[in-house]
Amino acid sequence: MNIPPPQSRAATAADPTTPTLSIVVPMFNEEDTLPALFHRLGQAMDKIGESYEIICVNDGSTDGTARVLAEAHDRDGRIKVLNFSRNFGKEVALTAGLDATSGAAVVPIDADLQDPPELIADFLEKWREGYDVVYGVRRNRETDTVLKRWSAAKFYQTINRLSGVSIPSNTGDFRLMDRRVVGAVGRLRERNRFMKGLFAWVGFRHAEVFYDRPERIAGETKFNYWRLWNFALDGITGFSTVPLRIAGYIGMLTAIGAIFYGIFLIVRTLIYGIDVPGYASLMVAVLLIGGLQLIVLGVIGEYLGRLYEESRKRPLYIVESSLGLTQDK
Ligand code: UDP
Ligand code: MG
Repeated sequence: MNIPPPQSRAATAADPTTPTLSIVVPMFNEEDTLPALFHRLGQAMDKIGESYEIICVNDGSTDGTARVLAEAHDRDGRIKVLNFSRNFGKEVALTAGLDATSGAAVVPIDADLQDPPELIADFLEKWREGYDVVYGVRRNRETDTVLKRWSAAKFYQTINRLSGVSIPSNTGDFRLMDRRVVGAVGRLRERNRFMKGLFAWVGFRHAEVFYDRPERIAGETKFNYWRLWNFALDGITGFSTVPLRIAGYIGMLTAIGAIFYGIFLIVRTLIYGIDVPGYASLMVAVLLIGGLQLIVLGVIGEYLGRLYEESRKRPLYIVESSLGLTQDK
């Protein structure tokens, strides 16, 4: 007989009313991808053979997503639906999905089948070995454009250098989390929800599973470069105050430079007398310092704006309707 390691988990959830696995799918205008998603996800889950639920968070879709979801729920009660009152963004949709789960292990997955559902079996195996978090790590980024690859690499480099938590690069939200991890993440109610950062912040024992990320099966990406840029700003400001400190250093360096330049000017004037033409140097100094001040104000503004958002304490999301879920949050 195969004796499991001491920390390994029981095969199924202890409480028979809750499923072993909860899959969370945030979706925004995904009506074209849903039939294939349910088909492949269902197949993968049947193969695993554990009890499961699929929590679909309809993030204010304007296409037929809500209708497709309602039909899917009618066919299979394990498919549960949360309809948001408007688009709140993927990070919030994911949060709502995690809040609604009851499974012993939880797997967030994209609706466009870029996260292969077959990998869940491998996640589960690692989870049983006793790991609390099992990341899906992309083996390569061949399906991304050169610019996206480069910017992603730079982003992870920056955020890992600036923040205290280490966010593994080439991971997305596709991972398995033990109930304890989901509970811990659920206690972080900040509005600035950079989920990968929050997942990393809570810690726990983790393992990796490598996979190749295919192209989206249908529809288009919802993340253009402007949205990705804002996402990166959220990530960095949410997990580091180093930019504020850099602002202070910029001020200090400029002031030191100004002191030396001032001494130089005084000495020069004492030796050579008053030198009236000096328009160019004056202009350069005024513009440079003005520019630096605006940049620093902008950095402070980024933090101040986020502070203001947090201070209003609005709920993270508004649910318009739900199917198959008792708790209406
Ligand atoms: N998504 C969402 N709300 C949004 C944008 C996206 O729920 O406001 C979902 C989307 O439907 C998909 C997942 O987030 O299931 C990932 O989005 P997408 O595939 O567009 O991003 P990419 O894979 O290009 O980074
Ligand atoms: Mg995608």
